[in-house]
Amino acid sequence: MLSSSATPAPEPTLRVHSYESFGAVDGPGIRLVVFLQGCPLRCLFCHNPDTWDPAGGTAVPLSELLRRARRMRPYLGNDGGITFSGGEPLLQAEALLPIVAALHAEGFHVAIDTSGALDTPAARALLDAADLILLDVKAPDPDRFREVTGLSQAPTQRIFAHLRQTQKPVWIRQVVAHGLNDTPAEKAATREMIAGLNVQRIDRLPYHELGVMKYEALGLPYRGATLSPPSPEELAL
Ligand code: SF4
Repeated sequence: MLSSSATPAPEPTLRVHSYESFGAVDGPGIRLVVFLQGCPLRCLFCHNPDTWDPAGGTAVPLSELLRRARRMRPYLGNDGGITFSGGEPLLQAEALLPIVAALHAEGFHVAIDTSGALDTPAARALLDAADLILLDVKAPDPDRFREVTGLSQAPTQRIFAHLRQTQKPVWIRQVVAHGLNDTPAEKAATREMIAGLNVQRIDRLPYHELGVMKYEALGLPYRGATLSPPSPEELAL
């Protein structure tokens, strides 16, 4: 006779930095935004260096995330849902896959806010599973991309190609700074980088310095000191 003593699989668990319960800019409608901990990029203009350490934040199991999502359901309306932001959500793609499936099983719309900088089978599966991708364009030129993020652009290019192939709906997001990506040539390169994607919306976000205090608190150097907010003309694509 077979024994029934098999241990149950561990509950999927995410490392979470923080939450925003009534997010109005990270996807359609009102959203529960889950900011995940851990990011392999080091963007010049990052406002959230406190999300970088993958071992930081709090371990949150699926059951807790579902409890929060269910509690928010009356406020989400027909258009809203859950957005996983960061940090970089693709870093936790394996744990996110069953969590997105569980949220879908309860009828929640799920968006993933990502730079696309990690190309793994789990990352691709997660992008395929999500309803909407908020796709951050860091820099269209490979050399500038490395200067801005500290990473090679090659995985990002492959993820963009994957999203072109699947035609997953995307909202493009790009931080724009004077002295970084405000020139006509940079704008043309951005338009070329997003060509062929199923773009439903483009948000060009003006650079600001509100995160600089966090660097001081963490004892980290701030690399964006040469940047400044763009003019309205520079901000327009
Ligand atoms: S991807 Fe986001 S969290 Fe990571 S360094 Fe860049 S701006 Fe910061």
